[in-house]
Amino acid sequence: MNLIQQDRARLWHPYAAASPDLPLWEVEAADGVRLRLRDQDGIRHDVVDAMSSWWSVIHGYRNPVLDAAAKRQLESFSHVMFGGLTHAPAVELAERLVDLAPSAPGRPGLERVFLADSGSVAVEVALKLAVQFQTASGHPQRQRFLSIRGGYHGDTFAAMGVCDPVDGMHSAFPGLLGGNVFAPRPPAASSATPEIVQAWAAELGDIAAEHSGELAAIIAEPVLQGAGGMHAYPAECLTAMREVADAHGLLLIFDEIATGFGRTGELFAADHGGVVPDIMCVGKALTGGYLTLAAVLCTGDVAETVSNGEAGALLHGPTFMGNPLACAVANASLGIIGDGGWRADVARIGAGLVSGLAPALDLEAVREVRTIGAVGVIELHDAVDVTAVTTAAIRHGVWVRPFRNLVYTMPPYVSTAADVEQITAGMTAAVAEVHERDRAPFGAAV
Ligand SMILES: *Cc1c(COP(=O)(O)O)cnc(C)c1O
Repeated sequence: MNLIQQDRARLWHPYAAASPDLPLWEVEAADGVRLRLRDQDGIRHDVVDAMSSWWSVIHGYRNPVLDAAAKRQLESFSHVMFGGLTHAPAVELAERLVDLAPSAPGRPGLERVFLADSGSVAVEVALKLAVQFQTASGHPQRQRFLSIRGGYHGDTFAAMGVCDPVDGMHSAFPGLLGGNVFAPRPPAASSATPEIVQAWAAELGDIAAEHSGELAAIIAEPVLQGAGGMHAYPAECLTAMREVADAHGLLLIFDEIATGFGRTGELFAADHGGVVPDIMCVGKALTGGYLTLAAVLCTGDVAETVSNGEAGALLHGPTFMGNPLACAVANASLGIIGDGGWRADVARIGAGLVSGLAPALDLEAVREVRTIGAVGVIELHDAVDVTAVTTAAIRHGVWVRPFRNLVYTMPPYVSTAADVEQITAGMTAAVAEVHERDRAPFGAAV
């Protein structure tokens, strides 16, 4: 039995059957933006990771700065409980996150940090904070959330409950999810006019008004809905969310787990609109993809109100809260972010994606090509043949993981212009080969 066969006999993979009839590749090595894969026939493929391992590996694999930070912390201690104890990596991380967080004149800043062990858990904590805040403010009946259609916030139950009710997993758990309220998807950035944005904002306001007595918070992924469809929308919608939340006594939660740390072209997607939420979740790229870690930031008012409530505490505390090793690597990653080079990296990658993906628009299978920051999306008319496109892209030296009708990329920030060219050419060629079989071969890429 080779490794892939052993895997198939024992392991689960994300959103997969126990022994799916889908290919699997073994990672033998990873360095910079490259993965060395071995397929089930033992054949090796060197590919550029167009996915940054799901948004996380922004500084590349085996980054010397992150490697050194991990080794330094290993030589000190890897983990201690966070109940009753503290340590320098956690305190430094809280300071760094508060320093970087969105701010605006006249608006309370995000100044209190809860360290969680994954994005989904961070969302759970954010939702708890909001409900505990409302209860402590004399609104114990405000236990539901106003979410946005097309959203994705994680796979634990409360997080699933604010994911898109149709594309999310609501139908699989009808007895356990539900009770939340959904506003329509915000208009697409590419076609929205001020009137369209205004109409959306008015509808959001109407829904909030209708349910305000039972709503604790609005939750949204600012500016870019990720796993719910890679949907970019205008920053003016963030202003509308802020106004509606303020008008109806709701907290505003921004889930920046995918968008945080520069990916959309601003440090946080909220910064596109100059909007400061009351609660913000970060994760994915926080440790540069080295270890699982997430964080929930909130205003001093939210923290104090919750702490002065009847419960007297924020009711959450994971075993691995504030894991020192993860915090140390996160500090190194945020150190690189703090140097500011990400802005030029994201601009360079974004420009490469715009020009590199443009030829895909000529394919008949393609409905739209869109980019925001260092994110590039080819949207097809029909569902992607995931196995065929993934395999074809690997032949062109690119690792992608399409879903639904989307072939998309968010390259590591350390990707060169040549890496981005390889990614965009490989994506386009893969789509052309798989979805335009009956048509003329695409360019020279085939
Ligand atoms: C990935 C993601 C999550 C969930 O994070 P996990 O670490 O996978 O639990 C939540 N919200 C958004 C916007 C995400 O992209």
